[in-house]
Amino acid sequence: MTAPGARVADVTAVMHKVVDAMPVAPNLVDYDTARAQFSWDAARARLAGLPAGGVNIAHEAVDRHATGDAAQTAALRWLGRDGTRRTLTYAELAAETSRFANVLAALGVHAGDVLFMLAGRVPALYIGVLGALKHRVVVSPLFAAFGPDPIATRIRRGEGSVLVTTAALYRRKVAAMRAHLPSLSHVLVVRESPDDVLPEGTHDLAALLAAASPVYHIAATDPETPALLHFTSGTTGTPKGALHVHAAVTAHRETARVALDLRAGDVFWCTADPGWVTGTSYGIIAPLCLGATLVVDEGDYDAERWYDLLAREAVTVWYTAPTAVRMMMKGGSGAARRHVYPALRFIASVGEPLNPQGVHWGLEAFGQPIHDNWWQTETGGIMIANFAASDIRPGSMGRPLPGIDAAIIARTDDGVRVIDEPGVQGELALRRGWPSMFRTYLHDADRYARCFAGAWYLTGDLARRDADGWFWFVGRADDVIKSSGHLIGPFEVESALLAHPAVAEAGVIGKPDPTVGELVKAFVALKPGIAASPTLERELLAHVRTRLGPAVAPREIAFVPALPRTRSGKIMRRLLKARELGLPEGDTSTLETMA
Ligand code: ATP
Ligand code: MG
Repeated sequence: MTAPGARVADVTAVMHKVVDAMPVAPNLVDYDTARAQFSWDAARARLAGLPAGGVNIAHEAVDRHATGDAAQTAALRWLGRDGTRRTLTYAELAAETSRFANVLAALGVHAGDVLFMLAGRVPALYIGVLGALKHRVVVSPLFAAFGPDPIATRIRRGEGSVLVTTAALYRRKVAAMRAHLPSLSHVLVVRESPDDVLPEGTHDLAALLAAASPVYHIAATDPETPALLHFTSGTTGTPKGALHVHAAVTAHRETARVALDLRAGDVFWCTADPGWVTGTSYGIIAPLCLGATLVVDEGDYDAERWYDLLAREAVTVWYTAPTAVRMMMKGGSGAARRHVYPALRFIASVGEPLNPQGVHWGLEAFGQPIHDNWWQTETGGIMIANFAASDIRPGSMGRPLPGIDAAIIARTDDGVRVIDEPGVQGELALRRGWPSMFRTYLHDADRYARCFAGAWYLTGDLARRDADGWFWFVGRADDVIKSSGHLIGPFEVESALLAHPAVAEAGVIGKPDPTVGELVKAFVALKPGIAASPTLERELLAHVRTRLGPAVAPREIAFVPALPRTRSGKIMRRLLKARELGLPEGDTSTLETMA
């Protein structure tokens, strides 16, 4: 099957970078040699390792820096919603997280118990996650904007015994359910102020921390000890619980070094909330492992404030998401250009495909392109990336990291077949065995087993590889459209729509049709101030037809005020389809915006 994606004009576009002219020599200048020489054993050897034996994420992230030269370096720079700032050095973070581990020990919480974290981006969240990992308690972060149901479902499924939250969130979202959460033995709450009444049946976290010792010796931690339970975004169905182990830290550290170009001394801002895997792997663990300073912004998205933050805090490496890029693009690049970003060295994005327009917009707004990279909750860390030292092919997710073997495969009756020819669309697969690969799906070992075929982990995403080894995202296997014998990836149609100046966002689905199988239908949200009209509709259809050809261009366009999105910002095509066909909407617990 030939890739329909081969039609996309940007396949040949390359954004050349002059590595010698970069202010700081980037990592991974010689990709091929780095790949050839890389071994995970060598990466493991770069970890500090626990004095008591084994590997513990919190030791690699915090304690290893707490006594040496980095002790007084800022580990966390917290920017409160109300303008408050709080900096924690590595030494202070080590003491605070040890206090937290001692609090758990004193409550009788054991290694292997599960702690759920439900809080906004406040210091207690970071202290709690890392402190729990010290005590070998499994951490499951929840997104603070979830309603009571998704919270209760996850705590029940994960059999959480500890919940860390704020008094306000507890009152609003948990108190009424508490009787139906029998596994929950301890609730530790952060009070907003001393007058904030402690809810019944909870402990005051600040008081417990103040009474606890700042010294905690992490016990020997077998690398296969469970560490993190992450629920997937719920883009394609009911969220799955992916379990990760302490050994994953080898990949957290290494992938941030090569794919985000991160190193000691960097000021790093990850805009993902720790309620999602990106916000934990890269919003907490990886930058600390490398001795960088983590900027934590409590506030929500606000383009003007974000530009100001990037400039004022002298952020050097910034990791964001296409949903944020699309929102910034909506407002144009003028506001971004009113600031200067002399410190900013590298920008990356993850979570959804980054349309070529997004890559270029980075150049226009910040003077540098945005580097797309790809991974999933299940992979625990970045697998495929556009690197700082490499040319960018806008629209491509880049090349596999050293230590990662990626392939395009076809499923066959008795397993899978690797497709070696370039440009052919198939399922993206990864050779199993990298350290941050998930170890199971919670309560669903069968589903976990079905993700593997021989040596390969099957990602459920469709992609193709070009002749030079760059990977191009086509779509979710579930989202691909079969029309008149063609296989059409929604991403290429959405990218073509986005190239039109009137379009802010687009979501494309296949609508069953008796003649062609499925016809391509696009849902389009327009930029502010632009009105929908039949003329505009015809113009958009013509625009896509010219770019992609008539077989792939949408047959129908519906203008909508906004697209349905997961709370992590991803377009939910399955909901567009369900609504179009009048079918049940399935799990909508992670839905953010109603169209
Ligand atoms: P669920 O598995 O519950 O349906 P989800 O797959 O969205 O939700 P995540 O693990 O958060 O949950 O997201 C991983 C998926 O996001 C990938 O499998 C891929 O489909 C998409 N994705 C992530 N990064 C990129 C990227 N750079 N380009 C294209 N798609 C991406
Ligand atoms: Mg998924």
